[in-house]
Amino acid sequence: MSQGSERPVLAGAGLVGSLLAVFLARRGKAVEVFERRPDMRREQISAGRSINLAISVRGLYALEQVGLEQEALAHAIPMLGRMIHARDGSLAFQAYGKDDSQCIHSISRGLLNRMLLDAAERTGRVRLSFRRRVVGLDLARRELTVEGDDGRTERLEHAVVYGTDGAGSAVRRSVVDARGGTSHEMTLAHGYKELALPAGPDGGWRLERNALHIWPRGDFMLIALPNEDGSFTCTLFLAFDGTPSFATLEAPGAVRTFFREHFGDVEPMLPDLEAQYGGNPTGSMVTVKCSAWHSGDRALLLGDAAHAIVPFFGQGMNCGFEDCVVLDGLDAEGAPRDELFARFEELRRPNADAIADMAVENFVEMRASTADPRFLLEKAIEKRLLAELPADFVSRYALVTFSRAPYRVAYDAGRIASGIVSELAEGLGSAAEVDLGRARALVAARLTPFLRERL
Ligand SMILES: Cc1cc2nc3c(=O)[nH]c(=O)nc-3n(C[C@H](O)[C@H](O)[C@H](O)COP(=O)(O)OP(=O)(O)OC[C@H]3O[C@@H](n4cnc5c(N)ncnc54)[C@H](O)[C@@H]3O)c2cc1C
Repeated sequence: MSQGSERPVLAGAGLVGSLLAVFLARRGKAVEVFERRPDMRREQISAGRSINLAISVRGLYALEQVGLEQEALAHAIPMLGRMIHARDGSLAFQAYGKDDSQCIHSISRGLLNRMLLDAAERTGRVRLSFRRRVVGLDLARRELTVEGDDGRTERLEHAVVYGTDGAGSAVRRSVVDARGGTSHEMTLAHGYKELALPAGPDGGWRLERNALHIWPRGDFMLIALPNEDGSFTCTLFLAFDGTPSFATLEAPGAVRTFFREHFGDVEPMLPDLEAQYGGNPTGSMVTVKCSAWHSGDRALLLGDAAHAIVPFFGQGMNCGFEDCVVLDGLDAEGAPRDELFARFEELRRPNADAIADMAVENFVEMRASTADPRFLLEKAIEKRLLAELPADFVSRYALVTFSRAPYRVAYDAGRIASGIVSELAEGLGSAAEVDLGRARALVAARLTPFLRERL
């Protein structure tokens, strides 16, 4: 068995693991990272999961802490709102924020991960070992087992292991067992399939570039995020079984017919739809709620390993990046590691649970309600209140996406805010009819005291 050291060991060099390595190295630690996949900077491999993702304030703040925000933004595309595609091809744009400065950014997952791996290496304190999978963790003995591509295993002593090995975390199993905790993994009945929508003949974007496109169709939906090269990545979210479902699209010609019927405006832009559909994997989505995130001073879970969430609030990575910021802040206070880990779990778990629930709720909103007149009226009223009462009214979306307020606070404040909007919407035909005096009074009575107490 290899001799251990005080070197922290990280299992997984995805988005969160590679960022955590940078933070730990900046605190003077020599870090050992094991990643099961090949080095994506040297070999053409998929970065896993989605091709691109939305990064917002929490994620950008984390990157800013390690000096990478501007580099990331240079390759990102601002998305100022949702572009809703109705069945008849008509478009409706819903801005995300009160002005264009409040936007989210579409960024390539591969590019961001490579950027973070480079940054980790540049610290001079991080050793990255690829094609090395963590297959066992005996916390009582402080023993880690790592398997290479050739099947050979090596056992190492360790002082501390950080589980950044994603939703299917091997580290999580050991941590939960050691603490006698529980881990609930809830897989959604819907899956997802990515499809590339190529750039136009002139190399430009064939849909509005600065928007997140949504084709809400009740029980299923298509979305599209822009890429730097003029293409879009579309994602079809659809049930695995039932009608329609991934199962019913197996029949010859079914995919083309389905797209023509439900996403008529985009279907002609996907000439190789059948080939892509057949060639690209169908992914599943899981929410992980786990009652034990650390084991004494020996192991800690971060990112999806601790709290995988479904992607409908665009917050999984943002939340994982925020984990790194919070841990680094606690680290700076210099508490013993077991106290630090316990404090981290205590601070982060309620927030992770809150964003997990909001992400599930947002799925319903995205696929169904975005096309519903009552929903559109309430969104318009919400927008009006954000504009007219900028110092007092906040929406859940704004708190989650454009602030670093704890997710738990965003969840509860969002409930209060949407209750107010819903009350104001009763009997109205348009947002222009809102009684602003009443709105002010409701906000002052319910939302302001709550936020004053929590923030
Ligand atoms: C379709 C989809 C769209 C999404 N869109 C967004 C979005 O718009 N915005 C957002 O913020 N989030 C989004 N997410 C969520 C985001 O992808 C995750 O939250 C994020 O990838 C979590 O990062 P992570 O490093 O914790 O885990 P992962 O990205 O899963 O990385 C884990 C790493 O660990 C490695 N690994 C796994 N097991 C082992 C092992 N035993 N030993 C060694 N290495 C191992 C893996 O190879 C991988 O490199 C989306 C997710 C999906 C599925």
